[in-house]
Amino acid sequence: MVFGVAGVPTHYKGKLSGLFPWLKEMNLNGVEIQCTYGFKMSDENKKLYKEMGENGFFLSMHAPYYINLGSLNNQVVGRSKSNMKEGIELAKSIGVTRIIFHPGGGHENTIEGRQHAIKQLIDAVNEFTSEIDMVDVRLYPEIGGKTASLGSLDEIIEICKNCKYCYPCIDIAHLHAREIGSLTSKEILKSKLQKIKDAIPEKFKYIHFHAYTINYGEKGEIKHLYFGDTMPDGSAGSPNLDDFIAVLKEMNIEPWVISEALDSQELSAKYMHDLYVK
Ligand SMILES: [Zn+2]
Repeated sequence: MVFGVAGVPTHYKGKLSGLFPWLKEMNLNGVEIQCTYGFKMSDENKKLYKEMGENGFFLSMHAPYYINLGSLNNQVVGRSKSNMKEGIELAKSIGVTRIIFHPGGGHENTIEGRQHAIKQLIDAVNEFTSEIDMVDVRLYPEIGGKTASLGSLDEIIEICKNCKYCYPCIDIAHLHAREIGSLTSKEILKSKLQKIKDAIPEKFKYIHFHAYTINYGEKGEIKHLYFGDTMPDGSAGSPNLDDFIAVLKEMNIEPWVISEALDSQELSAKYMHDLYVK
């Protein structure tokens, strides 16, 4: 069971070395290291994260946003492939077992355009993973938050089916936003997860989640919400995190859940953890 935060929470003001006890105090045991500006890390931080992993914390890593394996530009794809290899080496050196990445964008937003981009991404991933020793590192293409971005539920399943090292990162807020508010009930969320389980049963137990509430519009994601905040129209923040936790329990899913709630990851992660163990 892993409940954790994306990056160093804004409410935490101390040094990185003090973050772990701070999280532990709230019964949180996961951190998704944000490599937003590149797979780079000081030696000191490498050491701290490694120790953290050895002390029972679970580490995942979010790839830089500029990685775009589905791009129409060959140079961007080439660079993204070598970036991913650097990321895998970094992950291995500090004991990270999961690397989350965005499938990308820039393709033509038509059925053919999307299919072409996904096919290219699959080829690219299979190419660089065959050139490197993956050890126990798994790659997680993430559900995209905008309707135009790559990473619909079907596309994530497609990638995981065709790439040995790819596993699903289900960002339930992104899924909800890109489907313009689809997750309106526990049953609907459950059916989405069941679809993944049926399609890739052997990979389902390694599923990775991002969970928080989100504001969205006709093009999908607008903004992650602060934990407990309402939607702009005053309604409760969605998707419903209580439903999400209930589904995890009902489906016997071993949770690895990272909260990306705006400036309040730890509050939302603690809330979900407490609900889960209740
Ligand atoms: Zn992401």
